[in-house]
Amino acid sequence: MENLKNSESCDPSSFLRHFRKSSATPVMLLRHIAQAMATEMQEGLDHPGERKLKMLPTYLECLPTGNERGLFYAIDLGGTNFRVLRVQLDGKEGRILKQESIQVPIPQEVMTGSSKDLFGFLAKTIVQFVSREADLGFECVALNQKRDIGFTFSFPVNQTKVNGGSINAWTKGFSISDGVGEDVVDQLEIALADMGSVNTKVVCLVNDTVGTLAQCRYWNDDAMVGVILGTGSNACYVERAAAISCWSSPPEADDLTVVNIEWGNFCSELLPRTFADEGLDADSLNPGQQEFEKMIGGMYLGEILRRVLLKMAEDTGLFGSEIPERLTKPFSLLTPHMSTMHGDDTSSLEVVGSVIEEAIGVKYTTLATRKVVYDVCDIIAERGARLSAAGIVGILTKINRCGDLMLSCLTTPNDTEVKKTVIAIDGSLYEKYPKFRNYMEDAMKEMLGEDYANNVTTTLSKDGSGVGAALLAAAISTELRLGDVGVTK
Ligand code: ADP
Ligand code: MG
Repeated sequence: MENLKNSESCDPSSFLRHFRKSSATPVMLLRHIAQAMATEMQEGLDHPGERKLKMLPTYLECLPTGNERGLFYAIDLGGTNFRVLRVQLDGKEGRILKQESIQVPIPQEVMTGSSKDLFGFLAKTIVQFVSREADLGFECVALNQKRDIGFTFSFPVNQTKVNGGSINAWTKGFSISDGVGEDVVDQLEIALADMGSVNTKVVCLVNDTVGTLAQCRYWNDDAMVGVILGTGSNACYVERAAAISCWSSPPEADDLTVVNIEWGNFCSELLPRTFADEGLDADSLNPGQQEFEKMIGGMYLGEILRRVLLKMAEDTGLFGSEIPERLTKPFSLLTPHMSTMHGDDTSSLEVVGSVIEEAIGVKYTTLATRKVVYDVCDIIAERGARLSAAGIVGILTKINRCGDLMLSCLTTPNDTEVKKTVIAIDGSLYEKYPKFRNYMEDAMKEMLGEDYANNVTTTLSKDGSGVGAALLAAAISTELRLGDVGVTK
């Protein structure tokens, strides 16, 4: 966009032409990005904590198989709400017989209080929910038996074991005065013990990508990757336990575990960045970080759109001689606005017009202007979706599930040797933005080749951060009960 940065004025169509060019993601570029992602993943594994990809170990030694039986709990603390959930499992025949959850907002005074206040609040909510087990017709846990809980905790954690890790920082509007450096599971267990009677045990501490993968794996052994495409973006995948160099007592060398990539922080010269990405990053709370996430996350796509439209208003007079006031306000355009406009299939682009009026405050627009706005949405969403696809293919490259990437369009792989791979995805971008999803899936086909792509399926794994964590708790407790240290393959 060099030539656009200093341009005093130009017409919208030539601006658009340049913008399209600098956002382009031709398939060869995507393949190189995928390769760079795979290389960075290996770097992160080889140098724990020292590279752009953190490649955090989960210390999981098993994933759900579908054979689990009994009553299991999950708790999910990720943002403004706290959720507690239970599932009654009945093996492969009955699967999830029953499921129940509650969601409570975290009171403001708890979000800004002490960690004792927060964990006390969580413990109280858990105890109340557990006490209604029998009323709701769930099979009760025997008096002498503990209730196993999977804990989804979506804050930065330095994980040290499958059910423990210290808090690195409170984020997302929480400003707790203490607790950083403390073990999150210990703090919860202490708060639960203070409450007295409930017999519970947190058996795993996970993040939402891992829950997403676990939920899908419960139904399908071929699930290998979990991806979040929501406010932010991240992914995890099934890796050999032997690859985790910091695991002091790993299971057998060829056993499997899960690694949380933290792929949002991927960065590369290869990424097609524009003036809008640079501005967004410079004005963000974490400049220089999360470069990949800032090009694909739901928190950012709408803001990229706003920055491009503002520049077009300034340089090309897109909205007339005045710059719309609201367009100058960061985050005045959100990703749902963008997907609504992008979904407009009326010939006069009426929906685009009404979103422009409602969000930007411009009452009258010509069809030509609305078409330009539509095209900018298309370019930004297509780029984000195709980069997400490159990230996924990068993981497939790392685990040897991508065929021969560079040759795949020339050769037909031998079907009998090819393993099926399922990618579990959760988040509103994938679920509620059909054009984003289609662009992503098309790019995966382009990169992998039509034939090989038939072996790779992407699927919505909704609510993994809740149910997935309960299923993981079930898998772990089943392994422990069987005294089986082997890992689900
Ligand atoms: P979270 O990531 O917080 O768990 P979601 O997966 O629901 O939650 O993702 C929320 C993000 O998705 C927000 O950034 C929001 O702007 C975006 N979003 C919500 N609905 C839509 C939609 N219909 N189309 C596109 N983006 C959406
Ligand atoms: Mg989510």
